[in-house]
Amino acid sequence: MTTAAHQQHSGHGHVHGPDCGHPQIPHNDHVDYAHDGHLHRAHDGHWDECEPAEHIEHPDHAHQHGPACGHQQLQHGDHVDYVHLGHRHAAHEGHWDDH
Ligand SMILES: [Zn+2]
Ligand SMILES: [Zn+2]
Ligand SMILES: [Zn+2]
Ligand SMILES: [Zn+2]
Ligand SMILES: [Zn+2]
Ligand SMILES: [Zn+2]
Ligand SMILES: [Zn+2]
Repeated sequence: MTTAAHQQHSGHGHVHGPDCGHPQIPHNDHVDYAHDGHLHRAHDGHWDECEPAEHIEHPDHAHQHGPACGHQQLQHGDHVDYVHLGHRHAAHEGHWDDH
């Protein structure tokens, strides 16, 4: 966790919660909310974009995600994340990244 990766979402009027209607994705020790193509998490009274601080390749990822693979899909910016093993996986140059 580095401060460089801290992207606060400015002007976020909506308050996410269990009944807010946005998809909730468990992510390590917190919950992300899928919102307008981004993933938001609560942080000290505001909302952060939950973005990877660095390039993290998921090792030994044998499963191939796809439209019918059965994992939850989330639009994330210009690509699709798949919810898998408590992380979000995105296709990247022949492997899968943790997002
Ligand atoms: Zn919400
Ligand atoms: Zn949000
Ligand atoms: Zn997160
Ligand atoms: Zn899958
Ligand atoms: Zn992603
Ligand atoms: Zn995966
Ligand atoms: Zn990658």
